[in-house]
Amino acid sequence: MPTDLIDEACGMSEQLVAWRRHLHAHPELSGAEEQTAAFVAERLGEMGLTPRCNIGGMNGVVADLVVADQPFVALRADMDALPIQEENDVDYASETLGVMHACGHDAHMAMLLGAARILQHHRSELHRSVRLIFQPHEENEPGGAPAMIRAGVLEGVESIFGLHIWAALPTGRVGTRVGAFMASPTLLEISIHGKGGHAAMPEECIDPIVIAAQVIVGLQMIVSRTLGASDAGVVTITRINAGTTHNVIPQSVELAGTIRTFDTTIRDRVSERVREIAQGTAKAHGARADVKISHSYPTLINDPVIVADAHRAAERAGFDREDIVDLPLQGGGEDFAYYCQEVPGAFMFLGAGNPAIDCGFPHHHPRFNIDEAALPRGAAVLAAYCLQAGG
Ligand SMILES: [Zn+2]
Ligand SMILES: [Zn+2]
Repeated sequence: MPTDLIDEACGMSEQLVAWRRHLHAHPELSGAEEQTAAFVAERLGEMGLTPRCNIGGMNGVVADLVVADQPFVALRADMDALPIQEENDVDYASETLGVMHACGHDAHMAMLLGAARILQHHRSELHRSVRLIFQPHEENEPGGAPAMIRAGVLEGVESIFGLHIWAALPTGRVGTRVGAFMASPTLLEISIHGKGGHAAMPEECIDPIVIAAQVIVGLQMIVSRTLGASDAGVVTITRINAGTTHNVIPQSVELAGTIRTFDTTIRDRVSERVREIAQGTAKAHGARADVKISHSYPTLINDPVIVADAHRAAERAGFDREDIVDLPLQGGGEDFAYYCQEVPGAFMFLGAGNPAIDCGFPHHHPRFNIDEAALPRGAAVLAAYCLQAGG
């Protein structure tokens, strides 16, 4: 196995930055990644690979490096941007109004292209076939992963590995976690229907605003009183809509929010409690609550063996052992979770935070940016994961 992976990756730093900046300047929303897919496919073609496009009826791009009679290890990068107006004053800022790579998926593609180039150089050293998966539509329901899986991208795959660039982790570190790592998000919509009327005559009305207030306070008891000390969950109400003026009691109140859990049993228990509290509270006051609960991506569960492989890959790529950290449960969701339901997989965060160069804003913020010094490190980890597989 080569000992200079990180040197090799650093040698292509300029190229990685150029790819990332091109993608950053030309972001495309979930489901509309046509130019992004074309760019990725062209770069893969230049490397002598034969990319397959339009995978899963979407803009998915897949390329294989085949080692005869050997199963695949898969690497995945997501491709989509967000409906955010970029506020960074950089010369590679988004050229598309209201669309921005504010989650780092531009970096994910650049790093996977970098890994592809490294692996092409070291093709004779591979013990496993490699599948490179460029997946669209991560940021939006229902996620791009299910369609990619239905299109067969995991056929013949024995394990899958993915990196997410992470602004909250300083450059020079990577981190992950064995078992549950990222949350399963559940979307909540609650409509409370009372009886509107004159604000001065509450006795003639059923005031949905007071009932909504009680529902919101009641929901705060779920995590504290329904979950045990070792269970994790979040219930957050994020939106309240009601009323038009100061002297009218409205007919209804609309609430929206999210539940985050790490286990299906807890997810279902919390969801049920939300329904009971909303409907029971409304009923107690003569109103009615309609509760809509929709489960989004599953909990991302990292396989312990693949996490160990990922740690090994990070060391192989030049990370010191103390810079490979165990991370706590993450409240964010990721459709990489679907791959991990099908084959053993691991998802790892790659530190790219560096407030000294203005890279400290959170993901999905209009001033989100990454320390590009993380790019060669990420490419080296991805390549190392494949080179060590089956060895
Ligand atoms: Zn995101
Ligand atoms: Zn993301």
